[in-house]
Amino acid sequence: MDFQFTEEQIMFKQSLRDLLEKEFGPVVDQRDKQGPLTREEAIDVMKKLKKVGVGLDPESITDLLDPVMFGIIAEEFGRVWPSLLPLFGMGAIPAIFVPSCSDEVKGRLLPRLEKGEFIGCFAETEPDAGCDTSNLGTTARLEGDFYVVNGRKSWISNATIADTAFVGVKDAETGNHMFLLVEKEVSPFEATESHKLGWKASPTGEMFFDDCKVPRENELGVLLSNALASGTLAMPAGFMKLLTSMTPVTAMLTIPRAGMGLAAVGIAQAAFEASVKYARERIQFGKPLGKFQLIQEMLYEMNVAIETARLLGYKAMDLIVKGDPEARKYSAMAKAYGGEVAQKVTDRAIQIHGGMGLSEEMPIERYFRDARMMTIPDGTSEMMKLITGYAILGKGFSAYA
Ligand SMILES: Cc1cc2nc3c(=O)[nH]c(=O)nc-3n(C[C@H](O)[C@H](O)[C@H](O)COP(=O)(O)OP(=O)(O)OC[C@H]3O[C@@H](n4cnc5c(N)ncnc54)[C@H](O)[C@@H]3O)c2cc1C
Repeated sequence: MDFQFTEEQIMFKQSLRDLLEKEFGPVVDQRDKQGPLTREEAIDVMKKLKKVGVGLDPESITDLLDPVMFGIIAEEFGRVWPSLLPLFGMGAIPAIFVPSCSDEVKGRLLPRLEKGEFIGCFAETEPDAGCDTSNLGTTARLEGDFYVVNGRKSWISNATIADTAFVGVKDAETGNHMFLLVEKEVSPFEATESHKLGWKASPTGEMFFDDCKVPRENELGVLLSNALASGTLAMPAGFMKLLTSMTPVTAMLTIPRAGMGLAAVGIAQAAFEASVKYARERIQFGKPLGKFQLIQEMLYEMNVAIETARLLGYKAMDLIVKGDPEARKYSAMAKAYGGEVAQKVTDRAIQIHGGMGLSEEMPIERYFRDARMMTIPDGTSEMMKLITGYAILGKGFSAYA
Protein backbone atom coordinates (compact mmCIF):
# COMPACT_ATOMS: atom_id res chain seq x y z
CA MET A 1 0.00 0.00 0.00
CA ASP A 2 1.55 3.29 -1.09
CA PHE A 3 -0.91 5.67 0.57
CA GLN A 4 0.22 8.62 2.69
CA PHE A 5 -1.41 11.91 3.70
CA THR A 6 0.02 14.98 1.99
CA GLU A 7 1.32 17.89 4.09
CA GLU A 8 -1.84 19.80 3.20
CA GLN A 9 -4.07 16.93 4.35
CA ILE A 10 -2.20 16.64 7.67
CA MET A 11 -2.62 20.37 8.31
CA PHE A 12 -6.30 20.25 7.34
CA LYS A 13 -6.93 17.29 9.70
CA GLN A 14 -5.37 19.19 12.60
CA SER A 15 -7.19 22.47 11.93
CA LEU A 16 -10.54 20.67 11.59
CA ARG A 17 -9.88 18.74 14.82
CA ASP A 18 -9.01 21.97 16.66
CA LEU A 19 -12.14 23.71 15.41
CA LEU A 20 -14.45 20.80 16.26
CA GLU A 21 -12.98 20.45 19.76
CA LYS A 22 -13.22 24.20 20.43
CA GLU A 23 -16.62 24.99 18.88
CA PHE A 24 -18.57 21.81 19.56
CA GLY A 25 -16.59 19.66 22.03
CA PRO A 26 -17.78 21.50 25.16
CA VAL A 27 -21.48 21.45 24.16
CA VAL A 28 -21.94 18.26 22.15
CA ASP A 29 -23.28 16.00 24.92
CA GLN A 30 -25.78 18.51 26.22
CA ARG A 31 -26.88 19.63 22.71
CA ASP A 32 -27.17 16.07 21.41
CA LYS A 33 -29.61 15.18 24.21
CA GLN A 34 -31.92 17.99 23.11
CA GLY A 35 -32.63 16.24 19.80
CA PRO A 36 -32.44 17.23 16.13
CA LEU A 37 -30.77 20.48 15.09
CA THR A 38 -33.17 23.10 13.77
CA ARG A 39 -32.50 24.52 10.29
CA GLU A 40 -31.09 27.69 11.88
CA GLU A 41 -28.74 25.70 14.11
CA ALA A 42 -27.62 23.53 11.19
CA ILE A 43 -26.82 26.66 9.16
CA ASP A 44 -24.89 28.06 12.11
CA VAL A 45 -22.86 24.81 12.26
CA MET A 46 -22.14 25.01 8.50
CA LYS A 47 -20.94 28.62 8.89
CA LYS A 48 -18.59 27.63 11.71
CA LEU A 49 -17.16 24.77 9.63
CA LYS A 50 -16.50 27.19 6.77
CA LYS A 51 -13.70 28.72 8.90
CA VAL A 52 -11.57 25.67 8.03
CA GLY A 53 -12.83 25.42 4.45
CA VAL A 54 -15.55 22.82 5.03
CA GLY A 55 -18.56 23.99 3.02
CA LEU A 56 -20.90 23.01 0.21
CA ASP A 57 -20.29 26.07 -1.99
CA PRO A 58 -18.59 25.27 -5.33
CA GLU A 59 -15.20 26.62 -4.22
CA SER A 60 -14.99 24.68 -0.92
CA ILE A 61 -16.58 21.55 -2.29
CA THR A 62 -13.88 21.22 -4.96
CA ASP A 63 -11.33 20.44 -2.26
CA LEU A 64 -13.75 18.38 -0.26
CA LEU A 65 -14.78 16.23 -3.20
CA ASP A 66 -11.34 14.74 -2.91
CA PRO A 67 -12.29 11.39 -1.32
CA VAL A 68 -9.32 11.39 1.07
CA MET A 69 -10.31 14.85 2.36
CA PHE A 70 -13.87 13.61 2.81
CA GLY A 71 -12.48 10.64 4.78
CA ILE A 72 -10.62 13.03 7.07
CA ILE A 73 -13.79 15.07 7.63
CA ALA A 74 -15.80 11.91 8.36
CA GLU A 75 -13.23 10.60 10.85
CA GLU A 76 -12.91 13.93 12.68
CA PHE A 77 -16.71 14.46 12.79
CA GLY A 78 -17.01 10.91 14.17
CA ARG A 79 -14.48 11.65 16.91
CA VAL A 80 -16.27 14.77 18.15
CA TRP A 81 -19.89 14.80 16.91
CA PRO A 82 -21.07 12.03 14.54
CA SER A 83 -24.46 13.76 14.12
CA LEU A 84 -22.70 16.26 11.83
CA LEU A 85 -21.77 13.64 9.23
CA PRO A 86 -25.23 13.22 7.64
CA LEU A 87 -25.77 17.00 7.69
CA PHE A 88 -22.70 17.55 5.57
CA GLY A 89 -22.34 14.24 3.67
CA MET A 90 -25.94 13.91 2.50
CA GLY A 91 -26.15 17.64 1.73
CA ALA A 92 -23.12 17.32 -0.54
CA ILE A 93 -24.95 14.95 -2.92
CA PRO A 94 -27.40 17.51 -4.30
CA ALA A 95 -24.91 20.38 -3.82
CA ILE A 96 -22.36 18.97 -6.27
CA PHE A 97 -24.93 19.07 -9.06
CA VAL A 98 -26.14 22.65 -8.51
CA PRO A 99 -23.51 24.19 -10.86
CA SER A 100 -24.82 21.85 -13.61
CA CYS A 101 -28.46 22.96 -13.19
CA SER A 102 -30.40 25.40 -15.39
CA ASP A 103 -29.60 29.12 -14.98
CA GLU A 104 -32.90 29.59 -13.16
CA VAL A 105 -32.14 26.90 -10.55
CA LYS A 106 -28.54 28.11 -10.19
CA GLY A 107 -29.82 31.67 -9.68
CA ARG A 108 -31.75 30.49 -6.63
CA LEU A 109 -29.38 27.88 -5.17
CA LEU A 110 -25.87 29.22 -5.80
CA PRO A 111 -26.25 32.24 -3.48
CA ARG A 112 -27.53 29.89 -0.75
CA LEU A 113 -24.53 27.64 -1.26
CA GLU A 114 -22.16 30.61 -1.12
CA LYS A 115 -23.70 31.85 2.14
CA GLY A 116 -23.69 28.37 3.75
CA GLU A 117 -27.50 28.40 3.87
CA PHE A 118 -28.07 25.35 1.67
CA ILE A 119 -29.24 22.13 3.34
CA GLY A 120 -29.63 19.09 1.14
CA CYS A 121 -30.66 15.47 1.46
CA PHE A 122 -30.52 12.22 -0.50
CA ALA A 123 -33.86 10.42 -0.43
CA GLU A 124 -33.91 6.83 -1.62
CA THR A 125 -35.25 4.61 1.21
CA GLU A 126 -39.00 3.99 1.47
CA PRO A 127 -41.17 2.13 3.98
CA ASP A 128 -41.32 -0.88 1.61
CA ALA A 129 -37.97 -0.38 -0.14
CA GLY A 130 -35.05 -0.45 2.30
CA CYS A 131 -32.16 -2.64 1.16
CA ASP A 132 -34.18 -3.54 -1.92
CA THR A 133 -34.10 -0.21 -3.70
CA SER A 134 -35.12 -1.89 -6.97
CA ASN A 135 -38.63 -1.92 -5.52
CA LEU A 136 -39.34 1.84 -5.25
CA GLY A 137 -42.98 2.89 -4.92
CA THR A 138 -42.32 6.61 -5.54
CA THR A 139 -43.15 7.38 -9.16
CA ALA A 140 -42.39 10.24 -11.56
CA ARG A 141 -44.75 10.72 -14.51
CA LEU A 142 -43.52 12.95 -17.34
CA GLU A 143 -46.12 15.63 -18.18
CA GLY A 144 -44.77 18.18 -20.67
CA ASP A 145 -41.67 19.80 -19.19
CA PHE A 146 -42.23 18.40 -15.71
CA TYR A 147 -42.10 15.14 -13.83
CA VAL A 148 -45.00 14.74 -11.42
CA VAL A 149 -43.74 12.89 -8.34
CA ASN A 150 -45.92 10.89 -5.94
CA GLY A 151 -44.77 8.74 -3.05
CA ARG A 152 -43.21 8.57 0.38
CA LYS A 153 -39.63 8.29 1.65
CA SER A 154 -38.50 7.12 5.09
CA TRP A 155 -35.44 7.48 7.31
CA ILE A 156 -34.06 10.43 5.33
CA SER A 157 -31.26 12.42 6.97
CA ASN A 158 -31.95 16.19 6.96
CA ALA A 159 -35.52 15.58 5.62
CA THR A 160 -37.14 18.12 7.94
CA ILE A 161 -34.61 20.91 7.40
CA ALA A 162 -33.58 20.43 3.74
CA ASP A 163 -34.35 22.97 1.03
CA THR A 164 -33.13 20.64 -1.75
CA ALA A 165 -33.47 16.88 -2.11
CA PHE A 166 -32.05 14.33 -4.48
CA VAL A 167 -34.95 11.89 -4.77
CA GLY A 168 -34.95 8.32 -6.11
CA VAL A 169 -38.04 7.63 -8.23
CA LYS A 170 -39.39 5.07 -10.66
CA ASP A 171 -40.29 6.39 -14.12
CA ALA A 172 -44.05 5.72 -14.31
CA GLU A 173 -43.79 4.88 -18.05
CA THR A 174 -40.62 2.83 -18.32
CA GLY A 175 -40.14 1.62 -14.73
CA ASN A 176 -36.54 2.95 -14.90
CA HIS A 177 -34.89 4.05 -11.65
CA MET A 178 -34.05 7.77 -11.84
CA PHE A 179 -32.97 10.55 -9.51
CA LEU A 180 -34.49 14.04 -9.51
CA LEU A 181 -33.18 17.19 -7.87
CA VAL A 182 -36.20 18.61 -6.03
CA GLU A 183 -36.20 22.20 -4.74
CA LYS A 184 -38.70 22.59 -1.94
CA GLU A 185 -39.40 26.24 -2.77
CA VAL A 186 -40.66 25.48 -6.30
CA SER A 187 -41.64 21.80 -5.84
CA PRO A 188 -43.08 21.66 -2.32
CA PHE A 189 -43.03 18.46 -0.25
CA GLU A 190 -43.88 17.66 3.36
CA ALA A 191 -41.59 16.10 5.97
CA THR A 192 -42.05 14.78 9.50
CA GLU A 193 -39.51 13.81 12.14
CA SER A 194 -38.50 10.23 13.08
CA HIS A 195 -36.85 9.43 16.44
CA LYS A 196 -33.92 7.07 16.89
CA LEU A 197 -31.27 5.57 19.22
CA GLY A 198 -28.20 7.64 18.29
CA TRP A 199 -27.04 10.57 16.14
CA LYS A 200 -29.59 12.45 18.23
CA ALA A 201 -28.78 15.90 16.83
CA SER A 202 -29.14 14.73 13.22
CA PRO A 203 -32.66 15.35 11.93
CA THR A 204 -34.11 12.21 10.30
CA GLY A 205 -37.56 12.01 8.81
CA GLU A 206 -40.19 10.89 6.38
CA MET A 207 -40.93 12.81 3.19
CA PHE A 208 -44.22 12.98 1.34
CA PHE A 209 -44.57 13.88 -2.35
CA ASP A 210 -48.09 14.63 -3.52
CA ASP A 211 -48.28 15.62 -7.22
CA CYS A 212 -44.95 17.37 -6.74
CA LYS A 213 -43.93 19.00 -10.07
CA VAL A 214 -40.20 18.87 -10.87
CA PRO A 215 -38.62 20.39 -14.03
CA ARG A 216 -37.48 17.56 -16.35
CA GLU A 217 -34.02 19.12 -16.69
CA ASN A 218 -33.47 18.31 -12.97
CA GLU A 219 -33.04 14.60 -13.79
CA LEU A 220 -29.61 13.16 -12.82
CA GLY A 221 -28.78 11.93 -16.37
CA VAL A 222 -29.33 15.46 -17.74
CA LEU A 223 -27.37 17.08 -14.87
CA LEU A 224 -24.54 14.62 -15.33
CA SER A 225 -24.21 15.23 -19.06
CA ASN A 226 -24.28 19.02 -18.41
CA ALA A 227 -21.57 18.50 -15.79
CA LEU A 228 -19.38 16.38 -18.08
CA ALA A 229 -19.84 18.78 -21.03
CA SER A 230 -19.10 21.93 -19.00
CA GLY A 231 -16.47 20.45 -16.64
CA THR A 232 -18.41 21.71 -13.59
CA LEU A 233 -18.04 18.41 -11.70
CA ALA A 234 -14.57 18.95 -10.28
CA MET A 235 -13.83 15.42 -9.05
CA PRO A 236 -10.45 13.63 -9.26
CA ALA A 237 -9.90 12.08 -12.72
CA GLY A 238 -9.91 8.58 -11.22
CA PHE A 239 -13.32 9.08 -9.67
CA MET A 240 -14.66 10.33 -13.02
CA LYS A 241 -13.53 6.95 -14.42
CA LEU A 242 -15.66 5.17 -11.80
CA LEU A 243 -18.58 7.46 -12.58
CA THR A 244 -18.64 6.28 -16.16
CA SER A 245 -17.70 2.62 -15.57
CA MET A 246 -20.60 1.85 -13.14
CA THR A 247 -24.00 3.45 -12.55
CA PRO A 248 -23.38 7.05 -11.37
CA VAL A 249 -25.16 6.49 -8.04
CA THR A 250 -23.17 3.30 -7.35
CA ALA A 251 -19.98 5.26 -8.00
CA MET A 252 -21.16 8.22 -5.89
CA LEU A 253 -22.02 5.96 -2.93
CA THR A 254 -18.46 4.60 -2.71
CA ILE A 255 -17.42 7.89 -1.03
CA PRO A 256 -20.08 8.15 1.73
CA ARG A 257 -19.73 4.41 2.44
CA ALA A 258 -15.99 4.57 3.01
CA GLY A 259 -16.76 7.83 4.87
CA MET A 260 -19.12 5.97 7.21
CA GLY A 261 -16.33 3.44 7.85
CA LEU A 262 -14.01 6.30 8.81
CA ALA A 263 -16.65 8.10 10.90
CA ALA A 264 -17.01 4.80 12.78
CA VAL A 265 -13.22 4.86 13.30
CA GLY A 266 -13.58 8.40 14.71
CA ILE A 267 -16.21 7.29 17.24
CA ALA A 268 -14.04 4.32 18.24
CA GLN A 269 -11.01 6.60 18.57
CA ALA A 270 -12.88 8.91 20.96
CA ALA A 271 -13.98 5.92 23.07
CA PHE A 272 -10.43 4.56 23.07
CA GLU A 273 -8.87 7.88 24.14
CA ALA A 274 -11.39 8.19 26.99
CA SER A 275 -10.63 4.59 28.05
CA VAL A 276 -6.87 5.16 28.14
CA LYS A 277 -7.38 8.26 30.29
CA TYR A 278 -9.74 6.43 32.65
CA ALA A 279 -7.39 3.42 32.91
CA ARG A 280 -4.61 5.77 34.03
CA GLU A 281 -6.73 7.70 36.54
CA ARG A 282 -9.23 5.30 38.14
CA ILE A 283 -7.83 3.55 41.21
CA GLN A 284 -9.11 0.16 42.36
CA PHE A 285 -7.33 -2.33 44.66
CA GLY A 286 -4.86 0.49 45.32
CA LYS A 287 -3.68 0.72 41.68
CA PRO A 288 -4.76 2.43 38.47
CA LEU A 289 -7.03 0.16 36.37
CA GLY A 290 -4.39 0.28 33.62
CA LYS A 291 -2.07 -1.87 35.75
CA PHE A 292 -4.42 -4.83 35.43
CA GLN A 293 -3.61 -7.16 32.53
CA LEU A 294 -7.25 -7.79 31.63
CA ILE A 295 -7.70 -4.04 31.10
CA GLN A 296 -4.51 -3.87 29.01
CA GLU A 297 -5.81 -6.69 26.83
CA MET A 298 -9.00 -4.71 26.16
CA LEU A 299 -6.94 -1.64 25.22
CA TYR A 300 -4.84 -3.81 22.88
CA GLU A 301 -7.94 -5.19 21.14
CA MET A 302 -9.43 -1.72 20.78
CA ASN A 303 -6.24 -0.22 19.39
CA VAL A 304 -5.61 -2.98 16.83
CA ALA A 305 -9.22 -2.89 15.60
CA ILE A 306 -9.15 0.92 15.19
CA GLU A 307 -5.86 0.92 13.29
CA THR A 308 -7.06 -1.85 10.95
CA ALA A 309 -10.38 -0.13 10.21
CA ARG A 310 -8.62 3.21 9.65
CA LEU A 311 -6.16 1.70 7.15
CA LEU A 312 -9.01 -0.03 5.32
CA GLY A 313 -11.04 3.20 5.19
CA TYR A 314 -8.23 5.31 3.73
CA LYS A 315 -7.21 2.52 1.37
CA ALA A 316 -10.79 2.57 0.03
CA MET A 317 -10.60 6.37 -0.40
CA ASP A 318 -7.23 6.05 -2.14
CA LEU A 319 -8.64 3.46 -4.58
CA ILE A 320 -11.58 5.79 -5.31
CA VAL A 321 -9.13 8.64 -6.07
CA LYS A 322 -7.29 6.32 -8.46
CA GLY A 323 -10.49 5.04 -10.08
CA ASP A 324 -9.40 1.49 -9.26
CA PRO A 325 -12.04 -1.16 -10.17
CA GLU A 326 -11.68 -2.57 -6.60
CA ALA A 327 -12.87 0.75 -5.09
CA ARG A 328 -16.47 -0.42 -4.66
CA LYS A 329 -15.44 -3.61 -2.86
CA TYR A 330 -13.06 -1.76 -0.54
CA SER A 331 -15.60 0.95 0.31
CA ALA A 332 -18.12 -1.79 1.20
CA MET A 333 -15.55 -3.61 3.35
CA ALA A 334 -14.52 -0.34 5.04
CA LYS A 335 -18.12 0.46 5.93
CA ALA A 336 -19.03 -3.00 7.26
CA TYR A 337 -15.76 -3.49 9.13
CA GLY A 338 -15.67 0.06 10.53
CA GLY A 339 -19.22 -0.34 11.87
CA GLU A 340 -18.32 -3.61 13.60
CA VAL A 341 -15.17 -2.11 15.09
CA ALA A 342 -17.02 0.94 16.44
CA GLN A 343 -19.56 -1.31 18.17
CA LYS A 344 -16.88 -3.56 19.68
CA VAL A 345 -14.65 -0.70 20.81
CA THR A 346 -17.45 1.37 22.39
CA ASP A 347 -18.71 -1.77 24.15
CA ARG A 348 -15.21 -2.33 25.62
CA ALA A 349 -15.04 1.36 26.58
CA ILE A 350 -18.20 0.95 28.65
CA GLN A 351 -16.66 -2.11 30.34
CA ILE A 352 -13.48 -0.22 31.24
CA HIS A 353 -15.52 2.67 32.66
CA GLY A 354 -17.74 0.36 34.75
CA GLY A 355 -20.88 2.14 35.99
CA MET A 356 -19.61 5.47 34.65
CA GLY A 357 -19.65 3.93 31.16
CA LEU A 358 -23.43 3.64 31.44
CA SER A 359 -23.91 7.05 33.04
CA GLU A 360 -25.20 10.05 31.14
CA GLU A 361 -22.59 12.08 33.02
CA MET A 362 -19.93 10.84 30.57
CA PRO A 363 -19.96 10.67 26.76
CA ILE A 364 -19.23 6.91 26.71
CA GLU A 365 -22.91 5.89 26.45
CA ARG A 366 -23.31 8.35 23.53
CA TYR A 367 -20.31 6.81 21.76
CA PHE A 368 -21.99 3.41 22.16
CA ARG A 369 -25.35 4.66 20.81
CA ASP A 370 -23.73 6.58 17.95
CA ALA A 371 -21.56 3.55 17.06
CA ARG A 372 -24.66 1.34 16.87
CA MET A 373 -26.04 3.60 14.13
CA MET A 374 -23.14 2.89 11.79
CA THR A 375 -24.27 -0.51 10.47
CA ILE A 376 -27.61 0.59 8.96
CA PRO A 377 -27.62 3.87 6.93
CA ASP A 378 -25.86 4.08 3.54
CA GLY A 379 -26.22 0.31 3.10
CA THR A 380 -26.47 -2.24 5.91
CA SER A 381 -23.51 -4.44 6.88
CA GLU A 382 -25.29 -7.37 5.20
CA MET A 383 -25.53 -5.46 1.91
CA MET A 384 -21.85 -4.49 2.19
CA LYS A 385 -20.95 -8.16 2.69
CA LEU A 386 -23.02 -9.18 -0.35
CA ILE A 387 -21.29 -6.51 -2.48
CA THR A 388 -17.94 -7.83 -1.26
CA GLY A 389 -18.93 -11.45 -1.87
CA TYR A 390 -19.97 -10.65 -5.42
CA ALA A 391 -16.73 -8.75 -6.04
CA ILE A 392 -14.70 -11.72 -4.76
CA LEU A 393 -16.61 -14.42 -6.64
CA GLY A 394 -17.47 -12.55 -9.83
CA LYS A 395 -20.12 -12.86 -12.52
CA GLY A 396 -22.90 -15.33 -11.75
CA PHE A 397 -22.57 -14.88 -7.96
CA SER A 398 -24.91 -11.96 -7.31
CA ALA A 399 -26.92 -12.78 -4.17
CA TYR A 400 -29.99 -11.13 -5.71
CA ALA A 401 -30.15 -13.01 -9.01
C1 LIG B 1 -30.35 7.30 11.02
C2 LIG B 1 -30.63 6.87 9.62
C3 LIG B 1 -30.34 7.73 8.58
C4 LIG B 1 -30.64 7.36 7.27
N1 LIG B 1 -30.41 8.26 6.26
C5 LIG B 1 -30.82 7.95 5.00
C6 LIG B 1 -30.73 8.91 3.95
O1 LIG B 1 -30.26 10.04 4.14
N2 LIG B 1 -31.20 8.56 2.72
C7 LIG B 1 -31.75 7.33 2.46
O2 LIG B 1 -32.18 7.10 1.33
N3 LIG B 1 -31.84 6.40 3.45
C8 LIG B 1 -31.40 6.67 4.70
N4 LIG B 1 -31.51 5.74 5.70
C9 LIG B 1 -32.12 4.46 5.41
C10 LIG B 1 -31.16 3.31 5.38
O3 LIG B 1 -30.35 3.40 4.23
C11 LIG B 1 -31.99 2.02 5.46
O4 LIG B 1 -32.49 1.94 6.77
C12 LIG B 1 -31.18 0.80 5.10
O5 LIG B 1 -30.87 0.80 3.73
C13 LIG B 1 -31.93 -0.50 5.44
O6 LIG B 1 -33.26 -0.48 5.03
P1 LIG B 1 -34.40 -0.94 6.07
O7 LIG B 1 -34.21 -0.15 7.30
O8 LIG B 1 -35.71 -0.85 5.40
O9 LIG B 1 -34.07 -2.46 6.41
P2 LIG B 1 -34.53 -3.75 5.57
O10 LIG B 1 -34.21 -3.60 4.14
O11 LIG B 1 -35.93 -4.08 5.95
O12 LIG B 1 -33.55 -4.84 6.19
C14 LIG B 1 -33.74 -5.37 7.52
C15 LIG B 1 -32.60 -6.32 7.84
O13 LIG B 1 -32.57 -7.39 6.88
C16 LIG B 1 -31.30 -7.45 6.24
N5 LIG B 1 -31.47 -7.85 4.83
C17 LIG B 1 -32.30 -7.32 3.90
N6 LIG B 1 -32.15 -7.94 2.73
C18 LIG B 1 -31.20 -8.92 2.92
C19 LIG B 1 -30.58 -9.89 2.09
N7 LIG B 1 -30.88 -10.00 0.79
N8 LIG B 1 -29.65 -10.69 2.63
C20 LIG B 1 -29.29 -10.58 3.94
N9 LIG B 1 -29.85 -9.68 4.77
C21 LIG B 1 -30.78 -8.84 4.27
C22 LIG B 1 -30.74 -6.03 6.36
O14 LIG B 1 -29.33 -6.01 6.22
C23 LIG B 1 -31.22 -5.64 7.74
O15 LIG B 1 -30.36 -6.20 8.70
C24 LIG B 1 -31.18 6.08 7.01
C25 LIG B 1 -31.43 5.19 8.07
C26 LIG B 1 -31.18 5.57 9.35
C27 LIG B 1 -31.50 4.62 10.46
